[in-house]
Formats: sequence, structure tokens, C-alpha cells
Amino acid sequence: MGFKFTVILVSACFFVLRSAPLVFAADPGKPFLEAGSDHFRVRFSMESERGTAQTVLGRAEAFYIKVADDIGYSRYEDFWTWDHRVVITMYPDQYAYARFTGSPSWSKGFASRDTRVFKEHTIVSYDGQENFLDEVLPHEIAHLMLWDYIGAGSTSRMPVWFEEGVAQLQEREKSQKVFEAMRPLVLRHGYIPFPSFEGMTITGENDAQKVSLFYAQSLSIVLFLIQKYGKDAFYRLCAELRNGRSFEPALARAYPSAFGSLDALEGRWVRYFEEQ
Ligand SMILES: [Zn+2]
Repeated sequence: MGFKFTVILVSACFFVLRSAPLVFAADPGKPFLEAGSDHFRVRFSMESERGTAQTVLGRAEAFYIKVADDIGYSRYEDFWTWDHRVVITMYPDQYAYARFTGSPSWSKGFASRDTRVFKEHTIVSYDGQENFLDEVLPHEIAHLMLWDYIGAGSTSRMPVWFEEGVAQLQEREKSQKVFEAMRPLVLRHGYIPFPSFEGMTITGENDAQKVSLFYAQSLSIVLFLIQKYGKDAFYRLCAELRNGRSFEPALARAYPSAFGSLDALEGRWVRYFEEQ
């Protein structure tokens, strides 16, 4: 592949849900401090970070509203009550984050809803990243909200690409860049063919180009669905998945006149790029 996708990899998240459980904790000698809002609690290490924690809370609440609106979640009850707010754990730096979470070097943060391990919805990241508020935080909030709304069942119900597409939709200024980067690739059929793509996961994938392409293609398909067919159809798709339907039948029900299958989705998606 002769194109540059480095910008796209920046906030690639680490799938704790589909990998081995991690053991992490604050430095035993320094328990976390905490600040809270309606739906979130932020844990941080030093009193001097309290202002940052308040900023994180404000942005997190705004992203909560935005993601809810993108997936149709706002039409339902408010699932995240005061009693089980999402916990955002901020390590002071990348070194502490990697040391206490065991995350890979490219990971900037991750979300987990695995209650066996954490007993709460958790987003874990570290302070001082310039892209934390605009990329990592909204991306991970979107994962948690999707899991809450649709359920983190089998990947046939909510494929990894769909989840990553919705999560990246929240990242500032990413959509346009991805669409432009994908266009020449799609036109020369250099993308990942849908039969391989639909069940693909990136856990354990070491080929950075392949990971980047996977993320970019994921976002471009979600963008295509929303831009071409509108929010109401996308809400229907999310609602069908929430009701327990597998992805392909959910797609057919949400877009009855457009797609009967993933094959048809691929064809229309390619045609969309050709029309731009
Ligand atoms: Zn992600």
C-alpha cells in the first residue's frame, strides 16, 4: 500500500474485552483522588491535576450527549445512573499507564465493561496526551455506550468494524481525513474485501498498515451509511442490533430498499466513492 495512514492510527484503542484480563492498580503508596459529574467519575494522581479532571468531566458529559444522539440511545431511558457512573482513570504519564495496565506501546487508552475484572465501566488512559480530549476520550465513551445500548455479545451481532467505526466517528476532524484517504484506495479496489473484513478483529495484529486500513475502512462505512441514508435508518440499524438481530439481517431490515446483504453493502459503498 503506497499511502500514508499514520494519522489514522493515533487513537487506536486496545480491546481489553476480547483479550486477556488485565490487572492494574494505582501505585500502592499513592491512592487515586477523585472528582465526579452526572455520568462520570475521574480518578487522578495529584491534587494539581484536579483542574484537568474537571475539564475531562465537562467534555465527557458533552460526548455522552453526542454519542447518544448518533446511535439513537437518547430515545431510551438514561441507563447510566448516579450509582454506576463510568470511571475514568488517568495515570500521570505513559510510563505509569503502561506499567500498571500492561497495555501495548501503541495504546493510548482503553475501555472495559468486564465487570469480572473491574466491577464498573472503566476508561483508562494517561494525562498529558494532546489528543486525549478530542480523540481518546470520545472514542472510548462511544465503546462503552455501544456496549451498554446494543450489548457486547458476539461479533456477528456487532462486528468489530462497526463498533470501531462508530467510536471513531466521535474523534474530532477524523471523518473527512479518512474519507479522503480511503477514496483512491476504494477506487482501485485496494481495500479489505468484505468477506474477510466482516469478521475481522485487530487483537494481536502487528501489521500497522493493516490495522490502520481496518480502522479507516470501518469509519468510512459508518460514514457512508449515515451520510447517504440518514440518521433515522442508522438508528433503526442500532435498534435492530439491540433487539438481538445479527448484523446482516439487521442491516436488511434497517435499509430494506438498499441492502439485502453485506455483498450489496460493499457494492453500494464502492459506488458511493465513485460518485464523489
Ligand atoms: Zn476502539
